[in-house]
Order: sequence, then structure tokens, then C-alpha cells
Amino acid sequence: VSEREILDWLRKTVGNGIGDDCAVYIPRKGEDLLFTNDQSIEGVHFAPGLAPGAVGERAVARAISDIAAMGGEPRFCLLSLAMPKAKGMAWAKRFFRGALKARVPLVGGDLAHGDKIHIDVVVCGAVPHGRALRRDGAKIGDLLYVSGALGKAWDRKRIEPRLAFGKLLRGRATSCIDVSDGLSLDLRRVCEASGVSAEVDHVPIARGSTLERALHGGEDYELLFTMPSRFKPPQGSFRIGRIVPRIGSGVMYQGLELPARGYDHFGQS
Ligand SMILES: [Mg+2]
Repeated sequence: VSEREILDWLRKTVGNGIGDDCAVYIPRKGEDLLFTNDQSIEGVHFAPGLAPGAVGERAVARAISDIAAMGGEPRFCLLSLAMPKAKGMAWAKRFFRGALKARVPLVGGDLAHGDKIHIDVVVCGAVPHGRALRRDGAKIGDLLYVSGALGKAWDRKRIEPRLAFGKLLRGRATSCIDVSDGLSLDLRRVCEASGVSAEVDHVPIARGSTLERALHGGEDYELLFTMPSRFKPPQGSFRIGRIVPRIGSGVMYQGLELPARGYDHFGQS
């Protein structure tokens, strides 16, 4: 399959004038733009042999989840794909159909061949000026919540970015992050950025999962956020603990320090 063939098919499928050297985007008044990118590498982020549609869908959904964590809405994405020549047109079509499922306009990207599948997705999102949810705003006394049960990654292939939920947190949550690398690690990131610690009492465990997976397993894509107790969190929130003054490494679980054993690409495995 040639790059040209894939591009011609994409242009027809996407139908948004893709094909100039750059995409042009005119920002709306009163908005802050959010940018994120995410790599998906065969053998690192997904198992070789995962269905192409699932590879494409997950690659885009993971990046959109970061927009959700900032309280934003996605505006457009760019996608770069390297794949072995042997995969062919059928693979590419199924991959892009999966990637387009998110209904975020694909406005550009790059194609190349490589020894294994390597995807890089850039998503641009937007949030009303000054309203982006960050990870450095957690305050002592805030309550700590997650948007759903944790530890589910093991029994599902789909990622559903919590976009609607993230928007509900604007103006109320003091910090927010998506649980992509495991609660223990992502919560530690919030605590470090905010200069506080967190005391976790209990976590909601997804059906069929384990406490271990709920605490340390990655790929959950629920939102982890802090909110002053005077606000009512959105429906479906679970309160898992509270924010306290900085002690130790940052995260306590039922009175004991919780080591960050979530997924760190450069950590010891
Ligand atoms: Mg994230």
C-alpha cells in the first residue's frame, strides 16, 4: 500500500479539506486552548495483534482523556502513524475507522513505515478562559474523589474519556488528573504539584477486579479530583479520601504510606 492510497482514502472519509501543508484553526474568543500528545507503541501500550480498530480508537481516546482531565472539549486532532509495510490498506482503513470513532476532526498528521506500529496523537482542546483544571491546586481540607470504580482496565478494551464529567468540574474542582498510570502514581503527581498529601480511606473497586489493581493498575481513565467540602461533586463521584498537610512521600492509604507502583515507563519493573 502507498502513502498516497491511504491519504486519498482518508481525504474522502474525513471530508474536511485535509491536504494543505498545515491545518488552519481560528480560535474562538474567550477560550484557552489545551494541547496534549500521546504515543501508542506496539508492545508497550498495546499487545501485538490487537484489532486495528481498537488500536486506533484507544490511541485517540487516551489523548482525549487528557483534555477531559483539564475540563476541556476536544476541537481537533492530528495523528502520525508508522506501521510495517506488510500491514496493508485493510489494516490502515480499520485503524483509521477506529481513530475517527471519537468524532474529533482529524486535520492532519503523518504516515511512515516502521518495524512496528507507532502512533502519536495530538489533540487540541478548549476551555473557557482561566477555567482549565490543573493538578497543582489541591488544598488542605479538600475532599478527594474519583469519577468511577477503578481497576477496570483488565476486562475492557474501550476507553471512554470522561468529557462531560470533566466539564461539570469547572469552577468547583481545585485539581484534576486522569487516572492513566494508576491511582497511586497519578495521585502522587497531584500531591507533588500541589505541595500537599492525600489520605485515602477506601477506593471503589470495579466488579471482578482487585484492590491491588484499583490502587496501582493503569489505563482506568477515570478522573481523580479534589473539591472543597462545600461543593457537591457530580453524580457518580466516589469520595476516596481527603487532602492533608504534606507528609512523607505524599499518599497514605488507611494510615500507611502508599508506594507509587503505577506505570512509569522509566521506573523499575
Ligand atoms: Mg493524563
